[in-house]
Amino acid sequence: MRYGKYIPGSRGKGSHNVVDVVDKQTRSRMMSGIRGKNTKPELRLRRALHAEGFRFILHDRRLPGRPDIVLPRWKAVIEVHGCFWHRHDACRYATTPATRPEFWADKFAANVARDQANLARLQDAGWRTAVVWECQIRGKNIDELVNELGNWIRSDSLEFGVK
Ligand SMILES: [Zn+2]
Repeated sequence: MRYGKYIPGSRGKGSHNVVDVVDKQTRSRMMSGIRGKNTKPELRLRRALHAEGFRFILHDRRLPGRPDIVLPRWKAVIEVHGCFWHRHDACRYATTPATRPEFWADKFAANVARDQANLARLQDAGWRTAVVWECQIRGKNIDELVNELGNWIRSDSLEFGVK
């Protein structure tokens, strides 16, 4: 998997201290980031969109960054970003582990740069792009979000969501 080799504690000898200082919440956040695709919030959003009648392709390899949800009929893609890995601005889930600050700073900067590049490439190819954050889907009523998203999908607006 994409992030597997970066998980503290997986590097063998001498790495156990790293594990100890990453708190439980951060670690579970990181673990959910490992899966990347098909996360619980993503599944939840997909189910809701499907119930609204939208049909889509998942993780289309032909498109930059394999977008999470691709709606060909609407020429639209939706990325469901994990707040930790993709650095949701001012979000409480976008924590930074206490150790190896340079490592994490580099890692996060690379992720954000890659996300921006993918969105730009998608838009260059004529796709409209939406970014939805996991914290927007996690553990709350998502009717309003799904409603707004549905309105956006049917619109000709180029972008949806906040950075
Ligand atoms: Zn967030």
